[in-house]
Amino acid sequence: MRRQRPTLIAVSTAIALTLTIAPSPANAQTAAQADQVANLTVRQAEGYATLAWQPVEGATDYQIERTAVDASGNPTGAPTIVGIWRPNRQINQQAPTFADAGFNPGDTFQWRVRARAGTTEQPYSAPVVATTTTPWGNPATPGEQLRTQWETTRGAQYTSDVNEYAYTEAIDALSDRVRVVELGRTLQNRPINMMVIGHPTPAATPEAVAATAPVAINCNVHGNEPGDREACLIMARQLAFSTDPRVVDLLSRTNVLIIPTINGDGRANNTRGNSAGQDLNRDYSLIRQPETAAYIKMVRDYRPVAGYDGHEYGNTRAGDLPMLPPRHQNVPQAIFDQSQDMIEGHMYTKGAQDGWWACPYGCEGGSTVGNSEETILRNTLGLKNVANSLLELRSSGGQTRPDEGNTANNRRRKTYSALWTFNQFLDYRAANKAEILAARAEGIEGQAANTGRLVFRGSRPIPAYPAPHPGDSPPGLDAPRADLILDNAPCAYKLTEAQYNGARTDGPGGVGATVAQRIAAHGWKVIKTADGYYVPLNQPERGLIPLLLDTKGVEKLVDGERIYPNLTGRRNGPLTVSGFTCAANATINGPVTIQAGAALVATGTTISGPVTANSAAGVMLADSTLNGPLQITKATGAVSLIDVAVSGPVNLTGTTGDVPLLAGNTIRGPLNCSANSATPTTLGVANTVHGPRSNQCAAV
Ligand SMILES: [Zn+2]
Repeated sequence: MRRQRPTLIAVSTAIALTLTIAPSPANAQTAAQADQVANLTVRQAEGYATLAWQPVEGATDYQIERTAVDASGNPTGAPTIVGIWRPNRQINQQAPTFADAGFNPGDTFQWRVRARAGTTEQPYSAPVVATTTTPWGNPATPGEQLRTQWETTRGAQYTSDVNEYAYTEAIDALSDRVRVVELGRTLQNRPINMMVIGHPTPAATPEAVAATAPVAINCNVHGNEPGDREACLIMARQLAFSTDPRVVDLLSRTNVLIIPTINGDGRANNTRGNSAGQDLNRDYSLIRQPETAAYIKMVRDYRPVAGYDGHEYGNTRAGDLPMLPPRHQNVPQAIFDQSQDMIEGHMYTKGAQDGWWACPYGCEGGSTVGNSEETILRNTLGLKNVANSLLELRSSGGQTRPDEGNTANNRRRKTYSALWTFNQFLDYRAANKAEILAARAEGIEGQAANTGRLVFRGSRPIPAYPAPHPGDSPPGLDAPRADLILDNAPCAYKLTEAQYNGARTDGPGGVGATVAQRIAAHGWKVIKTADGYYVPLNQPERGLIPLLLDTKGVEKLVDGERIYPNLTGRRNGPLTVSGFTCAANATINGPVTIQAGAALVATGTTISGPVTANSAAGVMLADSTLNGPLQITKATGAVSLIDVAVSGPVNLTGTTGDVPLLAGNTIRGPLNCSANSATPTTLGVANTVHGPRSNQCAAV
């Protein structure tokens, strides 16, 4: 169950009225007195200071002034307007806040705030003076004392690849909580590292990490957008060494996956794309490049349940932190809703408390952004049932942060705003684990049911929040074109030997991985029969498969042949399955025997009578009911049961060539799995088994 996002219609109406009332000339003198900001407070946090004050009637915006002072509070620099608070900045406008950032952490300042009515400046508030928080970690404590190149140069330099590897290696060596895993290599042979972080130690294997329902932060895909990466490196140190109960508790319950630099070559050369010029954030479905292939295999093996993807964005009018959920219309509704809950429910609310301006990507004057390409990580992850968001750090100071002509000030604001977001992300995951996992299960079961239309390109709308809230200027609609919709989804795609295993030229240097290798990287099941390779749609990533294998795919791999169900309606009497058989919305009365080398794929189907498969090429059942025992012996290919109700025993033995998948099933009888080449997986979606579970399925 997901919470409703806050609705603020009544509040916003009241505020809209307040904001349009300017002081009249007749009482301007008294209004000036009344319009002085009162009760200014400042609260220090990691790299930023949150200013809060009582709203002034008639104010159209506020100016935030900062002055460097010495220990006695005497000015050591000129007063500078560092921030403009505008009414579209936050929900809960009765309590304005502004996260001032960009200063050197540890320095001492005085702040004042004044309201403006139009261009008329009101008197400044009484000042507040405070010393800002120093960079995290005691300089005398091993591990805690580590600093990035960016930190030691006070934002003058970004951390180089060499220094990143040295820093993460040092964390790995000094903290039991951290394991650095090399996911792959870039085209120029730079390691693509991932930090796996848990308490007291990270889980030992990818499967064990997956069992913690981990979260993943992708810190730097566009090499010339480095702000998020520095936040990731700082956060890794905090997670590795902090004794704060919040951190220890979080890491005791889940593993955190941090990929500092998937695009090491692009970062080293300060280019958007990789060294082949490919924009990697247009390649996560196609995985033509080694960097994206490494990431997608990580998703397959470690199974993050939620994610953030860090970027920077050049729009002077945008908020501090534009965000966007997976919008592609094939993304399960539950995953879209959960992602929106994280963004609009959590980030907008916390942003209003801490002074950061989260908003939808493109918010205010954005160009065409946030569309439905499945090649974008945000959408690819959504299609893989991962609740997630894009994060864009506004690259310039823009109109609301006028003191960022100074490069270091600008860089510090960006990185500390990313650090705030990533910490909020971890808190959201901790507080909403059950909801996230429920959305994931709903997504997996809903996709495997293979119902509803397929959309090849097209976004879900992002409804506007009532103005003037941060969501009042969402990205464009990006509705699917009629010719990019397929109402009648096939059961499977059939690929020829040449399509499946043939050489490809769509990778760097004119060489690409085969379709078979890419399908394996995505983790999809394939059934090979005597006449070809079948990729059924009744699996967890149903919404992504056609985008790569259907002739209508906008950026596809092959023109697979659509295979429609050949078993529908009611059928009585014994059934012997030969070849590739697809049942959809069928009712089958009588024993079913799947012959050696044959395959049965079924959705929405009820079978009464025993189902027996011996040396079958594949058995994939979803969203179906079996009244009778199920016996699958020595299957040579894909075995998958998702959201199937079985009244009777289930016996799965001797599978070769596939890891059987059992997810979200209800079995009213014993479940035995033995002598399969691998222990069956559940993808974290629990089964209900009324009888005993034995052997390889003891924990399924
Ligand atoms: Zn980017």
